[in-house]
Amino acid sequence: MIMEEVRHLYMPDGKVNPEIADRKIIIWGCGDRGKGLLKHFSDIGGEIECFCDTNYDGLGGSFCGKQVIAPESLAEYIGRNIVVTFTFWPQILHYIPSDKDVCMYANYPYWTNSGDRCVLCGSTRTVSCEARFVEFLDDRMFNMNPPVTRWVHCEDCEFSFSSYRPDDEEMSRFYMDYRGEGYNRQRMKYEPDYSDEAMFGEESIRYRRSLTSNFIGSAIGSAGSYRNVLDYGGDKGQFIPELFEDTSRYVYDISGKETVSGVKRLESLEEAASHDWDIIMNCCTLEHVSYPDEILDTIVSMMGRDTLFYLELPCECYGMNVSVHEHINEFTHQTLKTIGDRFSLEILEIGDIGTFGIAALYRKR
Ligand SMILES: [Zn+2]
Repeated sequence: MIMEEVRHLYMPDGKVNPEIADRKIIIWGCGDRGKGLLKHFSDIGGEIECFCDTNYDGLGGSFCGKQVIAPESLAEYIGRNIVVTFTFWPQILHYIPSDKDVCMYANYPYWTNSGDRCVLCGSTRTVSCEARFVEFLDDRMFNMNPPVTRWVHCEDCEFSFSSYRPDDEEMSRFYMDYRGEGYNRQRMKYEPDYSDEAMFGEESIRYRRSLTSNFIGSAIGSAGSYRNVLDYGGDKGQFIPELFEDTSRYVYDISGKETVSGVKRLESLEEAASHDWDIIMNCCTLEHVSYPDEILDTIVSMMGRDTLFYLELPCECYGMNVSVHEHINEFTHQTLKTIGDRFSLEILEIGDIGTFGIAALYRKR
Protein backbone atom coordinates (compact mmCIF):
# COMPACT_ATOMS: atom_id res chain seq x y z
CA MET A 1 0.00 0.00 0.00
CA ILE A 2 1.10 3.52 -0.67
CA MET A 3 0.63 5.31 2.59
CA GLU A 4 -2.78 6.85 2.01
CA GLU A 5 -3.70 7.61 5.53
CA VAL A 6 -2.32 7.75 8.99
CA ARG A 7 -4.47 5.62 11.24
CA HIS A 8 -5.41 6.18 14.83
CA LEU A 9 -3.23 4.39 17.33
CA TYR A 10 -5.95 4.68 19.95
CA MET A 11 -9.63 3.83 19.67
CA PRO A 12 -12.37 6.10 21.03
CA ASP A 13 -12.42 3.99 24.21
CA GLY A 14 -8.71 4.73 24.82
CA LYS A 15 -7.51 1.21 23.93
CA VAL A 16 -4.85 0.49 21.30
CA ASN A 17 -6.33 -0.10 17.84
CA PRO A 18 -6.32 -3.93 17.51
CA GLU A 19 -5.84 -3.70 13.72
CA ILE A 20 -2.23 -2.85 14.34
CA ALA A 21 -1.51 -6.45 15.32
CA ASP A 22 -2.03 -7.73 11.76
CA ARG A 23 1.62 -7.19 10.84
CA LYS A 24 5.02 -6.86 12.46
CA ILE A 25 5.25 -3.57 14.31
CA ILE A 26 8.00 -0.99 14.48
CA ILE A 27 7.68 1.51 17.33
CA TRP A 28 9.09 4.93 16.53
CA GLY A 29 10.29 6.58 19.71
CA CYS A 30 12.39 5.17 22.56
CA GLY A 31 10.74 6.89 25.47
CA ASP A 32 8.29 6.10 28.24
CA ARG A 33 5.45 5.89 25.77
CA GLY A 34 7.36 3.47 23.55
CA LYS A 35 8.14 1.38 26.60
CA GLY A 36 4.48 1.44 27.66
CA LEU A 37 3.37 0.34 24.21
CA LEU A 38 5.49 -2.80 24.44
CA LYS A 39 3.16 -3.98 27.16
CA HIS A 40 -0.03 -2.87 25.37
CA PHE A 41 1.01 -4.76 22.27
CA SER A 42 1.87 -7.93 24.12
CA ASP A 43 -1.68 -7.70 25.59
CA ILE A 44 -3.26 -7.59 22.12
CA GLY A 45 -0.83 -10.07 20.58
CA GLY A 46 1.18 -7.65 18.45
CA GLU A 47 4.71 -8.59 17.45
CA ILE A 48 7.20 -5.81 18.05
CA GLU A 49 10.04 -6.19 15.60
CA CYS A 50 12.22 -3.26 16.65
CA PHE A 51 12.30 0.40 17.68
CA CYS A 52 13.25 3.30 15.45
CA ASP A 53 14.79 6.46 16.84
CA THR A 54 16.96 9.32 15.58
CA ASN A 55 19.08 8.72 18.68
CA TYR A 56 19.74 5.06 17.79
CA ASP A 57 23.48 5.56 18.22
CA GLY A 58 23.15 7.10 21.68
CA LEU A 59 21.00 4.18 22.76
CA GLY A 60 23.72 1.70 21.74
CA GLY A 61 21.39 0.09 19.21
CA SER A 62 18.94 -1.46 21.68
CA PHE A 63 16.02 -0.48 23.93
CA CYS A 64 13.99 -2.67 26.27
CA GLY A 65 15.68 -5.72 24.78
CA LYS A 66 14.74 -4.78 21.20
CA GLN A 67 16.96 -3.56 18.36
CA VAL A 68 16.87 0.17 17.57
CA ILE A 69 17.23 1.20 13.94
CA ALA A 70 17.89 4.61 12.36
CA PRO A 71 15.04 6.31 10.44
CA GLU A 72 17.10 5.98 7.25
CA SER A 73 17.02 2.19 7.63
CA LEU A 74 13.21 2.07 7.44
CA ALA A 75 13.48 1.66 3.67
CA GLU A 76 14.72 -1.91 4.26
CA TYR A 77 11.48 -2.91 6.02
CA ILE A 78 8.55 -3.91 3.82
CA GLY A 79 4.92 -4.46 4.85
CA ARG A 80 5.19 -3.22 8.41
CA ASN A 81 3.00 -1.25 10.75
CA ILE A 82 4.87 1.72 12.10
CA VAL A 83 3.57 3.39 15.21
CA VAL A 84 4.73 6.85 16.08
CA THR A 85 4.73 7.58 19.79
CA PHE A 86 4.81 11.36 19.72
CA THR A 87 2.33 13.99 18.64
CA PHE A 88 4.45 15.71 16.03
CA TRP A 89 4.33 12.84 13.58
CA PRO A 90 3.84 15.01 10.45
CA GLN A 91 7.45 16.14 10.81
CA ILE A 92 8.81 12.67 10.15
CA LEU A 93 6.52 11.52 7.36
CA HIS A 94 9.28 12.04 4.81
CA TYR A 95 11.28 9.20 6.40
CA ILE A 96 8.53 6.69 5.70
CA PRO A 97 9.15 5.01 2.34
CA SER A 98 6.04 5.31 0.18
CA ASP A 99 6.66 2.13 -1.85
CA LYS A 100 7.20 -0.33 1.00
CA ASP A 101 3.60 -1.19 1.85
CA VAL A 102 3.79 0.52 5.18
CA CYS A 103 0.86 1.47 7.42
CA MET A 104 1.37 4.20 9.90
CA TYR A 105 -0.41 4.62 13.20
CA ALA A 106 -0.06 7.88 15.02
CA ASN A 107 -0.48 9.04 18.49
CA TYR A 108 -3.13 11.69 18.03
CA PRO A 109 -6.54 12.16 19.55
CA TYR A 110 -9.48 10.34 18.00
CA TRP A 111 -11.40 13.28 16.62
CA THR A 112 -14.95 12.88 15.45
CA ASN A 113 -17.47 15.41 14.16
CA SER A 114 -19.19 16.75 17.21
CA GLY A 115 -21.59 19.55 16.27
CA ASP A 116 -20.93 21.33 19.57
CA ARG A 117 -21.40 25.06 19.26
CA CYS A 118 -18.09 26.92 19.48
CA VAL A 119 -18.01 28.86 22.73
CA LEU A 120 -16.25 31.74 21.01
CA CYS A 121 -17.55 32.12 17.44
CA GLY A 122 -20.76 30.07 17.57
CA SER A 123 -19.81 27.83 14.63
CA THR A 124 -20.97 24.22 14.72
CA ARG A 125 -18.17 23.07 12.41
CA THR A 126 -16.49 21.35 15.35
CA VAL A 127 -14.73 18.07 16.06
CA SER A 128 -14.15 16.53 19.46
CA CYS A 129 -12.21 13.79 21.19
CA GLU A 130 -12.34 11.90 24.47
CA ALA A 131 -11.21 13.88 27.45
CA ARG A 132 -11.42 13.92 31.22
CA PHE A 133 -10.58 16.37 33.93
CA VAL A 134 -7.38 15.74 35.87
CA GLU A 135 -7.73 14.29 39.36
CA PHE A 136 -6.79 17.56 41.01
CA LEU A 137 -9.82 19.23 39.39
CA ASP A 138 -12.00 16.21 40.21
CA ASP A 139 -11.21 16.91 43.83
CA ARG A 140 -10.94 20.67 44.16
CA MET A 141 -13.44 21.84 41.54
CA PHE A 142 -15.93 18.96 41.45
CA ASN A 143 -15.87 17.51 44.98
CA MET A 144 -14.92 14.07 43.63
CA ASN A 145 -17.97 14.02 41.37
CA PRO A 146 -16.45 15.00 37.99
CA PRO A 147 -18.79 15.71 35.07
CA VAL A 148 -18.39 14.07 31.68
CA THR A 149 -16.51 16.23 29.21
CA ARG A 150 -15.01 16.10 25.73
CA TRP A 151 -12.32 18.25 24.14
CA VAL A 152 -13.81 20.25 21.27
CA HIS A 153 -11.99 22.03 18.45
CA CYS A 154 -13.64 24.64 16.24
CA GLU A 155 -12.59 24.30 12.61
CA ASP A 156 -13.53 27.90 11.86
CA CYS A 157 -11.75 29.90 14.58
CA GLU A 158 -9.42 27.14 15.88
CA PHE A 159 -10.57 27.68 19.43
CA SER A 160 -10.42 24.48 21.51
CA PHE A 161 -12.33 23.96 24.72
CA SER A 162 -13.73 21.59 27.26
CA SER A 163 -17.35 20.80 26.34
CA TYR A 164 -18.24 20.92 30.03
CA ARG A 165 -18.17 24.53 31.25
CA PRO A 166 -17.68 24.79 35.01
CA ASP A 167 -20.39 26.87 36.72
CA ASP A 168 -19.83 29.79 39.09
CA GLU A 169 -19.85 27.63 42.20
CA GLU A 170 -17.28 25.19 40.79
CA MET A 171 -15.10 28.06 39.61
CA SER A 172 -15.12 29.84 42.94
CA ARG A 173 -14.35 26.61 44.81
CA PHE A 174 -11.37 26.06 42.54
CA TYR A 175 -10.02 29.60 42.50
CA MET A 176 -10.52 30.43 46.16
CA ASP A 177 -7.05 30.96 47.64
CA TYR A 178 -5.63 30.36 44.14
CA ARG A 179 -1.99 29.19 44.38
CA GLY A 180 -2.14 29.78 48.10
CA GLU A 181 -0.97 27.28 50.68
CA GLY A 182 -4.13 25.18 50.64
CA TYR A 183 -4.23 25.11 46.84
CA ASN A 184 -0.59 24.02 46.61
CA ARG A 185 -1.01 21.32 49.25
CA GLN A 186 -4.08 19.88 47.55
CA ARG A 187 -2.42 20.01 44.13
CA MET A 188 0.76 18.30 45.29
CA LYS A 189 -1.33 15.41 46.58
CA TYR A 190 -2.01 14.58 42.90
CA GLU A 191 1.03 16.16 41.26
CA PRO A 192 3.96 15.72 43.66
CA ASP A 193 6.33 17.49 41.27
CA TYR A 194 4.16 20.61 41.07
CA SER A 195 5.92 23.86 41.85
CA ASP A 196 4.49 27.28 41.16
CA GLU A 197 8.01 28.68 41.37
CA ALA A 198 8.82 27.75 37.74
CA MET A 199 5.86 29.68 36.32
CA PHE A 200 5.28 32.31 38.97
CA GLY A 201 8.63 32.82 40.65
CA GLU A 202 10.18 36.30 40.49
CA GLU A 203 12.60 35.34 37.71
CA SER A 204 9.92 33.80 35.53
CA ILE A 205 7.67 36.84 35.92
CA ARG A 206 10.54 39.18 35.02
CA TYR A 207 11.14 37.12 31.87
CA ARG A 208 7.45 37.19 30.93
CA ARG A 209 7.36 40.95 31.47
CA SER A 210 10.31 41.40 29.14
CA LEU A 211 8.56 39.40 26.40
CA THR A 212 5.38 41.47 26.81
CA SER A 213 7.46 44.64 26.81
CA ASN A 214 9.19 43.65 23.55
CA PHE A 215 5.90 42.76 21.88
CA ILE A 216 4.08 45.97 22.78
CA GLY A 217 7.22 48.07 22.34
CA SER A 218 7.79 46.83 18.79
CA ALA A 219 4.20 47.83 17.94
CA ILE A 220 4.00 51.25 19.60
CA GLY A 221 7.61 52.35 20.00
CA SER A 222 8.03 54.39 23.14
CA ALA A 223 5.33 54.50 25.81
CA GLY A 224 6.09 58.16 26.44
CA SER A 225 2.71 59.46 25.28
CA TYR A 226 0.67 56.89 27.20
CA ARG A 227 -0.82 58.27 30.40
CA ASN A 228 -2.22 55.13 31.94
CA VAL A 229 -2.36 51.34 31.67
CA LEU A 230 -4.84 48.90 33.20
CA ASP A 231 -4.06 45.21 33.67
CA TYR A 232 -7.51 43.64 33.75
CA GLY A 233 -7.36 40.40 35.77
CA GLY A 234 -3.69 41.12 36.45
CA ASP A 235 -3.39 39.65 39.96
CA LYS A 236 -1.05 42.06 41.85
CA GLY A 237 -0.03 44.06 38.80
CA GLN A 238 3.29 42.22 38.55
CA PHE A 239 2.84 41.51 34.82
CA ILE A 240 2.74 45.16 33.74
CA PRO A 241 5.95 45.49 31.73
CA GLU A 242 8.84 47.87 32.39
CA LEU A 243 7.90 49.74 29.24
CA PHE A 244 5.21 51.44 31.35
CA GLU A 245 7.32 52.34 34.37
CA ASP A 246 6.65 56.06 33.84
CA THR A 247 2.95 55.50 33.14
CA SER A 248 0.18 55.43 35.77
CA ARG A 249 -0.39 51.73 36.38
CA TYR A 250 -3.61 50.11 37.60
CA VAL A 251 -4.86 46.61 38.16
CA TYR A 252 -8.38 45.26 38.42
CA ASP A 253 -8.58 41.74 39.84
CA ILE A 254 -11.24 39.93 41.83
CA SER A 255 -8.59 38.37 44.08
CA GLY A 256 -8.24 41.74 45.83
CA LYS A 257 -4.58 41.01 46.65
CA GLU A 258 -2.22 43.77 47.71
CA THR A 259 -0.54 45.19 44.63
CA VAL A 260 3.15 45.45 43.83
CA SER A 261 4.83 48.80 44.35
CA GLY A 262 3.74 51.51 41.93
CA VAL A 263 0.51 49.80 40.87
CA LYS A 264 -2.87 51.03 42.12
CA ARG A 265 -5.68 48.55 42.68
CA LEU A 266 -9.15 49.43 41.42
CA GLU A 267 -11.90 48.38 43.81
CA SER A 268 -14.74 47.81 41.37
CA LEU A 269 -15.64 47.42 37.72
CA GLU A 270 -17.43 50.76 37.92
CA GLU A 271 -14.22 52.39 39.01
CA ALA A 272 -12.34 50.67 36.17
CA ALA A 273 -14.97 51.82 33.68
CA SER A 274 -14.79 55.44 34.85
CA HIS A 275 -11.26 55.91 33.51
CA ASP A 276 -10.25 56.93 30.04
CA TRP A 277 -7.74 54.17 29.26
CA ASP A 278 -4.75 54.43 26.94
CA ILE A 279 -3.89 50.74 27.25
CA ILE A 280 -5.78 47.78 28.67
CA MET A 281 -3.93 44.51 29.12
CA ASN A 282 -5.41 41.08 29.72
CA CYS A 283 -2.80 38.37 30.21
CA CYS A 284 -3.36 34.65 30.66
CA THR A 285 -6.86 34.76 32.10
CA LEU A 286 -9.20 33.80 29.25
CA GLU A 287 -7.89 30.23 29.14
CA HIS A 288 -9.40 29.71 32.60
CA VAL A 289 -12.93 31.03 32.21
CA SER A 290 -16.18 29.42 31.07
CA TYR A 291 -17.37 32.52 29.22
CA PRO A 292 -14.41 34.38 27.66
CA ASP A 293 -16.93 36.43 25.65
CA GLU A 294 -18.21 38.16 28.75
CA ILE A 295 -14.75 39.36 29.77
CA LEU A 296 -13.96 40.49 26.24
CA ASP A 297 -17.29 42.36 26.15
CA THR A 298 -16.45 44.16 29.38
CA ILE A 299 -12.98 45.12 28.22
CA VAL A 300 -14.14 46.32 24.81
CA SER A 301 -16.87 48.40 26.48
CA MET A 302 -14.15 50.21 28.44
CA MET A 303 -12.14 51.04 25.31
CA GLY A 304 -12.22 54.51 23.82
CA ARG A 305 -11.50 55.32 20.19
CA ASP A 306 -7.72 55.21 20.67
CA THR A 307 -7.41 52.71 23.52
CA LEU A 308 -5.03 49.84 22.79
CA PHE A 309 -6.00 46.37 23.98
CA TYR A 310 -3.20 43.87 24.57
CA LEU A 311 -4.36 40.25 24.84
CA GLU A 312 -1.93 37.49 25.84
CA LEU A 313 -2.61 33.77 26.17
CA PRO A 314 -0.57 30.63 26.70
CA CYS A 315 -0.16 28.41 23.67
CA GLU A 316 -0.39 24.77 24.59
CA CYS A 317 -1.20 21.56 22.90
CA TYR A 318 -3.03 18.92 24.84
CA GLY A 319 -2.06 16.25 22.30
CA MET A 320 -3.51 12.80 22.77
CA ASN A 321 -5.58 11.43 25.66
CA VAL A 322 -6.64 14.88 26.69
CA SER A 323 -6.57 15.51 30.42
CA VAL A 324 -8.18 18.86 31.00
CA HIS A 325 -6.47 21.03 33.57
CA GLU A 326 -7.54 24.46 34.78
CA HIS A 327 -6.91 25.71 31.26
CA ILE A 328 -10.28 24.81 29.80
CA ASN A 329 -9.67 26.86 26.63
CA GLU A 330 -6.91 26.93 24.00
CA PHE A 331 -6.30 29.72 21.51
CA THR A 332 -4.34 30.04 18.27
CA HIS A 333 -3.41 33.04 16.10
CA GLN A 334 -6.58 32.32 14.10
CA THR A 335 -8.63 32.57 17.30
CA LEU A 336 -7.06 35.96 18.04
CA LYS A 337 -7.99 37.13 14.53
CA THR A 338 -11.57 35.92 15.05
CA ILE A 339 -11.76 37.85 18.32
CA GLY A 340 -10.77 40.95 16.35
CA ASP A 341 -13.59 40.36 13.85
CA ARG A 342 -16.23 39.55 16.44
CA PHE A 343 -15.53 42.62 18.56
CA SER A 344 -14.84 45.01 15.66
CA LEU A 345 -11.20 45.43 16.60
CA GLU A 346 -8.38 46.22 14.24
CA ILE A 347 -5.27 44.07 14.75
CA LEU A 348 -2.12 46.19 15.05
CA GLU A 349 0.17 43.26 15.86
CA ILE A 350 -0.21 39.53 16.30
CA GLY A 351 2.49 37.00 17.13
CA ASP A 352 4.24 34.74 19.60
CA ILE A 353 5.36 35.46 23.14
CA GLY A 354 8.55 33.45 23.45
CA THR A 355 7.72 29.78 23.34
CA PHE A 356 4.96 29.91 25.88
CA GLY A 357 2.30 32.11 24.41
CA ILE A 358 0.64 34.18 21.74
CA ALA A 359 -0.55 37.75 21.80
CA ALA A 360 -2.37 40.42 19.84
CA LEU A 361 -2.60 44.18 20.09
CA TYR A 362 -5.96 45.64 19.06
CA ARG A 363 -7.61 49.01 18.59
CA LYS A 364 -11.25 49.81 17.87
CA ARG A 365 -12.09 49.91 14.18
ZN1 LIG B 1 -15.06 28.97 16.70
